[in-house]
Amino acid sequence: MHNFYTEAFAEPTKALREASTHAEVGNSLTNDDPTTRALLERVAAFLGKEAALFMCSGTMCNEVAIRAHVQPGQEIICERSSHIINFEVGAPAALSGAMIHAIDGTRGMFTADQTRSAIRSGNPYYPDTGLIIFEQTANMAGGAVWPLEQLRQVADVANQHGIKTHMDGARLINAVVATGVEAAEMAKGYDSVFMDFCKALGCPAGAVLAGPNEFIARAWRIRQMIGGGIRRTGMMAAMCNYALDQHVDRIAEDHALAKYLEESIANIRGVSGVLPVDTNIVMVDFDSAGPNAATIVAKLRDEGFIVGAFGPHRIRIVTFLGQSLTAGEQLCVALDKILNEQPC
Ligand SMILES: *Cc1c(COP(=O)(O)O)cnc(C)c1O
Repeated sequence: MHNFYTEAFAEPTKALREASTHAEVGNSLTNDDPTTRALLERVAAFLGKEAALFMCSGTMCNEVAIRAHVQPGQEIICERSSHIINFEVGAPAALSGAMIHAIDGTRGMFTADQTRSAIRSGNPYYPDTGLIIFEQTANMAGGAVWPLEQLRQVADVANQHGIKTHMDGARLINAVVATGVEAAEMAKGYDSVFMDFCKALGCPAGAVLAGPNEFIARAWRIRQMIGGGIRRTGMMAAMCNYALDQHVDRIAEDHALAKYLEESIANIRGVSGVLPVDTNIVMVDFDSAGPNAATIVAKLRDEGFIVGAFGPHRIRIVTFLGQSLTAGEQLCVALDKILNEQPC
């Protein structure tokens, strides 16, 4: 089976596994794990923030950050297709008592003007805006990269209104590789940011949340509250460190493969369009007269390819560590066959 569903299916390489075996470890919860400490210092600097905290997952980073930033009854402004709305089981409401104020953006992104008009405060009937969250890159928009200028403008609006900001950086590293802009530059002006190690970086677990010292101290307590305090994170942190050393440059290969898929698939009859590819996600739309997404996903599985259905006529293909150009070429052939081979 060739898996193109999500980066989380990347098979940990032998070298990555080995990186963990000799890691020096201690109790991270008393800050005595040297390998974790080294990772957190490194990631805090990489993201341009004062402090950082090791988490199980990106979802935990988002939800801990929300809890740390927002009071119950406050609103979170975010784009309608965002992960916190669609794939976190309603946690902003369940864990933080937060309301969501969704913006319909363009390619998963919203503008300074949209932010300004969405912000609410001072009216005795309205919920107050407590937090603004956005994704770099925007997952459901096909891994779209927010331009630096737009990031700055949205941060400025938030800062003018004294509203907290959080960057969901599950794929921040893809944006960095695609643009050459440093992560710290992108996160500048934002209160908190996380980067994930189990997406493009290919680790089995781990994400790091970063922000000011005072925010991280509160996040520490919330992580403990929800049972996210893993004791000997050094083994995982060693893999994260290894991935930062060895897996960043190779992400360009994922982007090249995604670009190849974008161009090849766009030419297949029965495909109505492919969202522009900035990074490693290819969203493919099909003619509504043809087979629906669920059918195409099932047939691709029969041909040995796993992809996801994300809408009645849309599939998502994700490129990541361990795939080959050959597998990508075969995927295109299989898709063409499914859409265009008439049964006799
Ligand atoms: C995958 C993803 C997350 C969550 O990361 P996990 O480590 O899988 O929990 C959050 N936000 C976005 C945009 C994602 O794509």
